[in-house]
Amino acid sequence: DFQQRREQLRINKLAARFYHNILLNTREGRRGLEYLTKRGIKPETIERFQLGYALPAWDGLIKYFGSQGIDIKDLQKVGLVIPRKDNRGYYDRFRDRIMFPIEDVTKNIIGFGGRIVGVGEPKYLNSPETPVFSKGENLYALSMIKKDPELDAIVVEGYMDCISLQQNGFTQAVASLGTALTQKQARLLKKYTNGVILAYDADSAGQTATLRGMEILAKEGLNVKVLSLPAGKDPDEFIRRKGRDAFREQLTGALDLVSYKLNLAKKGLDIQNSDGKLRFIKRAVEVLSEIENEVEKEIYVQKTATELNIPVQVLKDEIKKRQFPNN
Ligand code: ATP
Ligand code: MN
Ligand code: MN
Ligand code: MN
Repeated sequence: DFQQRREQLRINKLAARFYHNILLNTREGRRGLEYLTKRGIKPETIERFQLGYALPAWDGLIKYFGSQGIDIKDLQKVGLVIPRKDNRGYYDRFRDRIMFPIEDVTKNIIGFGGRIVGVGEPKYLNSPETPVFSKGENLYALSMIKKDPELDAIVVEGYMDCISLQQNGFTQAVASLGTALTQKQARLLKKYTNGVILAYDADSAGQTATLRGMEILAKEGLNVKVLSLPAGKDPDEFIRRKGRDAFREQLTGALDLVSYKLNLAKKGLDIQNSDGKLRFIKRAVEVLSEIENEVEKEIYVQKTATELNIPVQVLKDEIKKRQFPNN
């Protein structure tokens, strides 16, 4: 209920302050600070995102909250502590991790992400689903972007991608808290903008998530584009190596859904030789026949025919054959 919810949000806020203070003002926190510095994160950015550090200890947070007179059952409810297997007490969920407080749109801290600093699994750990936190219903940093239909939001996979882009002046960046974008997240985004640029990792997981994410976003009436980074890269790595101007160019060159699919269809094929050409036509026909808007379809059919150096009519016939296979 309302009282409980308020108490949980208060606890999260206190926890965020606790982790942030350890990062900035303690000797043990230097480990976290060095890690962030090594990754190019500036003090202003640490401040802006209220980043923190959870010590390697099993009871750092428990001790602190004990001294604050907070019920450990409430700590468990927000997912900050976990009961021991033998049921004798609790331990901290987040240990030796850089802490990313996650806000909802009204700037309440609803949960945390934590990245391991040393070696250990998993690399990222999130708060579990709690009465105040539902991963698929929020986007990281959404509370920080401008509400403006004309300004495209940039959707990335990871906390570090989002922070790194924001630090470089791309202040419309948000993260989807994992790879799979949900309908609820799309609906939330629609309240902020009319356009989204997807900038997921350039690996196979990212590619799958991009295709699915684009459909979900388009369904909400968002204008979707996708950025294709060089293989293996994510936005954070890209911008650190190539700089912000290069990233801006990537944004300018972002592809719409159809172009992105046609590009994928071309991957691994040499369309200069006839075998590659035939295989590409087969895949392209699949993509083209799915376009519902006739004007749009016409444009892409023309474009593809020109690219393949074949008569437009040949491509149109193939599309018809696919749509009406019995004629
Ligand atoms: P880094 O740059 O710090 O190594 P990353 O963001 O590039 O991290 P990815 O492996 O690309 O890491 O993961 C992207 C995002 O997916 C993470 O920021 C996190 O939100 C989520 N994620 C990754 N691994 C896990 C995991 N094991 N559990 C939960 N979420 C995860
Ligand atoms: Mn501070
Ligand atoms: Mn990544
Ligand atoms: Mn990364």
